[in-house]
Amino acid sequence: MAVIIDESCITCDACLQNCPVNAIVDDSKNPLGYARYYVQPDKCVECVGIHEDPQCAAICPSIGCITWDMPFSAEFETHFANEELYKIVSKKAKKYRTDIPLEQRGVKKEVQEEPEVLEAG
Ligand code: SF4
Ligand code: SF4
Repeated sequence: MAVIIDESCITCDACLQNCPVNAIVDDSKNPLGYARYYVQPDKCVECVGIHEDPQCAAICPSIGCITWDMPFSAEFETHFANEELYKIVSKKAKKYRTDIPLEQRGVKKEVQEEPEVLEAG
């Protein structure tokens, strides 16, 4: 991954609509059965090469709901083996933001403190 959605998600659908790689599923498809949206770690690319910042966090109205997770890579395979937090389909490593230090990942560090107004389209 990349980024993770926590229990403060209000299921507003904004992140799903803005993810450029369709990495997010809604609460009805949350593979863990939780009543919140879910970022598929094996699909999220942290918007690298597409946008300056993760678009899901840029638009999320629930401040602090989306936080940085570990890079989805072989190095952190053990981290993503937590079945209470992840359902992994593919083991193929994904792009991640190298400017986000590892010490800020997996510690609930907010991706974005205030939502942005994104332009439509
Ligand atoms: S960081 Fe980008 S690619 Fe990842 S879930 Fe959010 S919008 Fe999608
Ligand atoms: S934008 Fe935020 S509050 Fe809305 S569904 Fe996504 S994670 Fe949940």
